Amino acid sequence: MSIKLKLARARLLEREGQQIPADTPEIAAEYFRGFKTPGGLTDREIEARKRTIVLLPTTFKGSDEICNCCLDGYKAGQNIIFAKCGHKYHLDCFNDFVKNWRACALCRKDMATGKNL
Ligand SMILES: [Zn+2]
Ligand SMILES: [Zn+2]
Repeated sequence: MSIKLKLARARLLEREGQQIPADTPEIAAEYFRGFKTPGGLTDREIEARKRTIVLLPTTFKGSDEICNCCLDGYKAGQNIIFAKCGHKYHLDCFNDFVKNWRACALCRKDMATGKNL
């Protein structure tokens, strides 16, 4: 499992109220790196991102790609949204994620500006 997948899993565990696995210092370091940027995106920044929302058509067959927030794939009928860095998320996942985070779960760039944090 890649560091990114482990990190995403740690986030999921925390969201479910479970303890983050502490046996892997590199994961802990990566996890807490995001907290250098307290708070998430502003309402205005979120509004700007909402212009990128795409509704996946009913004919969408799915792909190998996963949302780096929930680790699930993309399915027909779901809304996806693009962070400024170019990475995409489920709309619901994005809305939840950016309440507390500015850093993209995949590339760690600022999700509103696309710049390095
Ligand atoms: Zn998702
Ligand atoms: Zn990114």
